Amino acid sequence: MKSYHLRFTAQQVEELRRHLFPGDGKEAVALALCGRRDDDSIHILCVHKLLLIPHDKCHERHPLRVHWPTDIGRPIYEEAMRKHMAVLKIHSHPGYYRQFSEVDDRSDAELFSSLHGWTDDGMPHASAVMLPNKEMFARVITADLQFVAVSRIAVAGDEIAFFDFAPSRKEIASKDLRTAQAFGEKTVALLNSLRVGVVGCSGTGSWVIEQLARLGVGELVLVDPDIIEHKNLNRIVNSTLEQAESKTPKVEALESAIRRIMGTCTQVTPSAKNLFHTGVLQKLATCDVLFGCMDTVDGRDILNRLATFYLIPYFDLGVRLDADGKGGVNVVCGSVHFLSPGGSSLLSRRVYGPEALRAASLRRTNPEQFTAEVDEGYIKGVKVESPAVISVNGLCATLAVNNLLARLHPFRIDPNNEIRHQWFDLINGIFGNGNGGEPCRVLQLYAGRGDIEPFLDCHFG
Ligand SMILES: [Zn+2]
Repeated sequence: MKSYHLRFTAQQVEELRRHLFPGDGKEAVALALCGRRDDDSIHILCVHKLLLIPHDKCHERHPLRVHWPTDIGRPIYEEAMRKHMAVLKIHSHPGYYRQFSEVDDRSDAELFSSLHGWTDDGMPHASAVMLPNKEMFARVITADLQFVAVSRIAVAGDEIAFFDFAPSRKEIASKDLRTAQAFGEKTVALLNSLRVGVVGCSGTGSWVIEQLARLGVGELVLVDPDIIEHKNLNRIVNSTLEQAESKTPKVEALESAIRRIMGTCTQVTPSAKNLFHTGVLQKLATCDVLFGCMDTVDGRDILNRLATFYLIPYFDLGVRLDADGKGGVNVVCGSVHFLSPGGSSLLSRRVYGPEALRAASLRRTNPEQFTAEVDEGYIKGVKVESPAVISVNGLCATLAVNNLLARLHPFRIDPNNEIRHQWFDLINGIFGNGNGGEPCRVLQLYAGRGDIEPFLDCHFG
């Protein structure tokens, strides 16, 4: 059975709340254009663009129903048809009625039968209801006009929220009791239900994976094309000499570690492939949260892009050590960037510049040209293998995982929007936070765009 998810940004939800609850106790309505990620087991709708139906254009607004001229949504219907996107109708229930009413059934059947006539691609559209406290529930309307419940609604912002409608799992497992004592059963159940993607299973990634598994995350999608080597044994948690000898892929080494530690409580989907495969990126697009634990600029950039297209909260980890090779250590820094879709990006935060991005892409797609440009001095500052130390990687990973917990289950005194960027400098003993600055003007336009040809609107070979 296919499951259906619906994703919003926190900003979209706030804009909808203001429109849907103007304070007069009467229902109101809005439309949204949604991007899609569709595979065999899941169909995800990502809200891309809102069209608020003006209150004074409605034929009737009443505490239990709203009647509006559906023609007003024509620009959205036409764009959905052209781009194979979905139409979402969302209205309010000011009196906290927690299900679709008979009036809703009739009006949805009418609106969506004519919409399916328009779009004609066999793909579902959706209808949702918001309550005054911003809780939501939703259903899709299939091409044969069946109503099917949406099992998860996700809201990505400084706080990460989920509304779930799948049958709830059994009671808290004994392995999760101590986590439940800290964060409560609800947060533990949420962790059990999450699918988290970790890209990069080395110095920082292996620590992130270890912690997520022990916290009870339900499914981990692991991506790394490399094998365990002797030079990694100083920092990859759970890696062994035997795995280095037998050239075990990193994702397999970590999968077997999770199996040993957690049994089958955490499902693992390993992918020993490069991130730049459409299939790998499509799988990651189904994740609820992403961690980027890579040192390549183009990898970090594509993951930031993916997270934007599919409205996924994204944690980017970076560590930097500079040493003179004779025992002199000059730089010991690390940073965790939390990126919400529609907000600032790694590029707008100047984590790297366009030149570094171009150089990294060239290195991947055309190594000969890359070497020539380095030799001719057009590309400068290319990193050879950097030093790496387990204690610094572990610190960075721990900051990132705690940052996730604080967004699923807010516990900090400072608001989460002031801690979008965390960094440390162990030479000078500095720990700092920042808000990440203004939204990225480039990526913002793609928030919730979903599937597109070419994938992610870029050619990455
Ligand atoms: Zn209703």
